[in-house]
Amino acid sequence: MKALCWMGREDVRVEEVPEPQILNPRDAIVRVTSTAICGSDLHLYGGFIPTLERGDVLGHEFMGEIVEVGAGVGNLEVGDRVIVPFPIACGSCWYCRSDLHSLCDNSNPNAWMAEELFGHSPAGIFGYSHMLGGYAGGQAELVRVPFADVGPLKIGPELSDDQVLLLTDVIPTGWMAAEQADIQTGDVVAIWGAGPVGQFALRAAQLLGASTVIAIDRVASRLRMAQRHGAEVLNYQEVKLQTALRDLTGGRGPDVCIDAVGLEAHGTGPLALYDRVATSVRFETDRSTALREALLACRKGGTVSIAGVYGGYLDKVPLGAAFNKGLRLRMGQTHVHRYLRPLLERVTRGELDGREIITHHMPLEQAPEAYQIFRDKEDECTKVVLQP
Ligand code: NAD
Ligand code: ZN
Repeated sequence: MKALCWMGREDVRVEEVPEPQILNPRDAIVRVTSTAICGSDLHLYGGFIPTLERGDVLGHEFMGEIVEVGAGVGNLEVGDRVIVPFPIACGSCWYCRSDLHSLCDNSNPNAWMAEELFGHSPAGIFGYSHMLGGYAGGQAELVRVPFADVGPLKIGPELSDDQVLLLTDVIPTGWMAAEQADIQTGDVVAIWGAGPVGQFALRAAQLLGASTVIAIDRVASRLRMAQRHGAEVLNYQEVKLQTALRDLTGGRGPDVCIDAVGLEAHGTGPLALYDRVATSVRFETDRSTALREALLACRKGGTVSIAGVYGGYLDKVPLGAAFNKGLRLRMGQTHVHRYLRPLLERVTRGELDGREIITHHMPLEQAPEAYQIFRDKEDECTKVVLQP
């Protein structure tokens, strides 16, 4: 079958690879109908996440049709149409029972690698390095889904792929970014990053009662998209961001600041330059401009919610500001399983809609070009869906 393989830094190719097999009774095989490229894939593409190997199949946002089920999967049948959460979760460990599915204790066979870096291992993730399980991803014609009795959710024919595909990741991720910040009616919420995650954090913040949402980015088409959905927008290259945010909040600062940028933040000024040099010589692993700004901008006693991915060790993060302002920090890979059903209801009611942010459809064969277009935000690209 055909699959998108990581061949090295900024080198992905569609290759012929062996078809996946059922390995465990709780596995299923899905024939992929739609799969998206995520900002998290760009971190792999750019070589920021360790333990990828040449030939690894990428992709963690996918949906399709069940073509084979293991003997232990009682709730799915061949022919079912499903969406599949990006973290892999067993459904029965303490973390899964506590609805913390991205922290599942049983889905990462390479837990020891993650333990060396993080102290403990999070869940395995499709197509997301050997440290997070070494699972082949869904930017492929077929994919093996472990614990298929737990993750996949059946979807009826009345909803299109584009309406539901993003429930596998960025819709719940934007939602969790807002929800975990405990937004109160009337809050001002500032969101760094107007990519797919930022766009859905914006919609979630509005649905959860924010009075004002401020979207921050430098990509004009993404800022326009946020503006169409009622956000105030700030182009961080055109304003003095900290001053602009104080001006918009009566000098107080936003109640909630959401980082929907993560470890590849762009920036200007001495600290951004420091990050460029320090990451290039591996003195630090992640560029943290957005996180720094969020910590500085947030009002006293407010919440900084981090949806953007960080992978390792950050420098010059103003923890003193967070401490002295009594900020609350929330973060993590999304517990997608927890949000699938309630957010599917919101999608069905039309409150959340993947179609609003999908700008490109391309065949899987053109995935290498799609990665480049998405990374460089060419052609007003916000989200690419690949069709195998
Ligand atoms: P994306 O790359 O399309 O969007 C990121 C946006 O941030 C871009 O529009 C970019 O211009 C903007 N940006 C860069 N530097 C900035 C800065 N200093 N200030 C403001 N904006 C800046 O990616 P995405 O798909 O929206 O994902 C965003 C982040 O969320 C990534 O780090 C991704 O890995 C992460 N993510 C996390 C989870 C999770 O489970 N927590 C799930 C999906 C994605
Ligand atoms: Zn993703």
